[in-house]
Amino acid sequence: MEYPDRFDVIVIGGGHAGTEAALASARMGCQTLLLTHNIETLGQMSCNPAIGGIGKSHLVKEIDALGGAMGLATDLGGIQFRVLNARKGPAVRATRAQADRIRYKAAIRHILENQPNLTLFQQAAGDLVVENDTVRGVVTETGIRFMGETVVLCTGTFLGGVIHIGLQQSRGGRAGDPPSNALAERLRALPFRVDRLKTGTPPRIDAKSVDFSRLEEQPGDTPIPVMSYLGSREMHPRQVSCHIAHTNEQTHQIIFDNLDRSPMFSGVIEGVGPRYCPSIEDKVHRFADKASHQVFIEPEGLDTHELYPNGISTSLPFDVQLKVVRSMVGLENAHITRPGYAIEYDFFDPRDLKHSLETRFIHNLFFAGQINGTTGYEEAGAQGLLAGLNAALRAKEQDAWCPRRDEAYLGVLVDDLITLGTKEPYRMFTSRAEYRLLLREDNADMRLTEQGRKLGLIDDERWASFSAKREAVESESARLKASWVQPGTAAAAKVEASTGKPLSREYNLMDLLKRPELVYHDVAGLLGEAVADEQVAEQVQIQAKYQGYIDRQQDEIDKLKRHESMALPEDLDYNAIEGLSHEIRQKLNDARPATLAQAGRISGVTPAAVSILLIYMKKRH
Ligand code: FAD
Repeated sequence: MEYPDRFDVIVIGGGHAGTEAALASARMGCQTLLLTHNIETLGQMSCNPAIGGIGKSHLVKEIDALGGAMGLATDLGGIQFRVLNARKGPAVRATRAQADRIRYKAAIRHILENQPNLTLFQQAAGDLVVENDTVRGVVTETGIRFMGETVVLCTGTFLGGVIHIGLQQSRGGRAGDPPSNALAERLRALPFRVDRLKTGTPPRIDAKSVDFSRLEEQPGDTPIPVMSYLGSREMHPRQVSCHIAHTNEQTHQIIFDNLDRSPMFSGVIEGVGPRYCPSIEDKVHRFADKASHQVFIEPEGLDTHELYPNGISTSLPFDVQLKVVRSMVGLENAHITRPGYAIEYDFFDPRDLKHSLETRFIHNLFFAGQINGTTGYEEAGAQGLLAGLNAALRAKEQDAWCPRRDEAYLGVLVDDLITLGTKEPYRMFTSRAEYRLLLREDNADMRLTEQGRKLGLIDDERWASFSAKREAVESESARLKASWVQPGTAAAAKVEASTGKPLSREYNLMDLLKRPELVYHDVAGLLGEAVADEQVAEQVQIQAKYQGYIDRQQDEIDKLKRHESMALPEDLDYNAIEGLSHEIRQKLNDARPATLAQAGRISGVTPAAVSILLIYMKKRH
């Protein structure tokens, strides 16, 4: 049958990409359908119940700054929060939350069910309706046809999914869920480049069988960090500790002795796994000289005894998994509640996508999430939001919005994917961004919320909160610049006591805040009332301490923009330019771009490389 209502945007898959895609499109006023296998698994965390971490929290904050759900769901479901790299600079600081997977999922479902313009439907999509290279709709495996202007595909690890435990295989999208084989077949018949990747998950352990007195306790931070710009500590449920265990020589020996029973090492798995989240057999093999690896023992939730041993993802057979777990101190009597496993799945070469995440071959069809070769909830959610908003813009016959690399990690993520492609599951790191001092997790709202409001993604409540914060930052910065401390006064004595240096002349509070020994709360209350809001204080402090570096990065970006029309001679010898990688030299030699802007658009030629070209050309003249 054909469903009677027509949709502007149809999203397939209710994982992290699909939920953000559907919410974004619906927030923009488009009639949106979210079609997913199972409404009970909306927002399910397939693996680790944790959100954020280095590079990833930047994406969560960007999703949040554009009105998405991930940050708020984390505040509602988070049971342990920490700031990683807290002692390093603000560019690499990252918030990480351990989540109660049931509470997180419930929060996502609540947000979805209460979103105007959004319809949920539980069925497997089995086919796409494609006419004249344009997608027109979706057909479910039971034959219901949904017609729409645009379709966003967010099917995660489900396309042609094969689960491996030891040398046993079964078909599945993840443990307990069916694979998407009909849709995988249909997509393989379209002109996209397709390949296989793999990822894995550890066994889960019953906390009742663990001797916590022999593990190292790792409490969350105090004061407790918050993930969403609209979040608060009061939203968090009860907070709990994680623990740390260690593998040892016995653990490693058990793994070595059984490598021939690992599907990865016996050649059964063809897909490439995540380099930065390797299985324990991979780690032991690759770092054979290391006597021990840390294993974070993380609670799966407040109302369950299940634990997630972070660091021992594996596809070894169950009997080996049990021996591995029980070889660790504190886990000698551990009971495994679910075996670990690896999954292999189809992904599509992201170089077949545009910056908007629309596919190059089928109009109005967008791909987001793990289907594009990424790994991680945050990478998926960020792509979902972008694909959903661009599908909505297409349905409204408006131009796509594609953030640049200097505007957002979202821009870095998509640009990396569509220009370089990926051979292994792609995850975000701060080192992937050239302008990371500009793209901090603390200022994602300052970078993106105004744009989000223009796109129709930001509701009145978030807009009012953001506007108030922006005004408070401006007025507090102005107050500090206008407040002067004179030598010989009580205020000066306080500064001298904190810094150990005499105040030789008058300084305004903003200049004092630039000193490394002083933080916002040391100076803000010296002359008048300091602001109470932590987010505002943080912005003012970062502006004071890092403005010089931030301005330098901004100048670099502006300079590149100004020189985009600079001509590159036809006979330029790229091999003679120092600092360019072999791969980039080859691409430039092949493409022979006429201008700097053209060079920057060649797939794989990074902004850093363009900057090197610019410097080289200036020296030549
Ligand atoms: P998913 O979260 O997989 O969601 C896909 C959704 O689409 C599901 O709801 C599914 O039911 C639905 N769906 C699929 N096909 C259809 C269809 N035909 N019709 C209707 N609905 C459909 N990430 C890490 O960062 N670190 C890790 O260590 C890690 N390990 C992992 C281990 C395993 C075993 C798995 C399965 C995943 C792991 N991940 C890991 C990846 C992480 O789970 C994904 O990156 C993330 O969930 C991707 O989000 P997504 O929205 O793209 O897809």
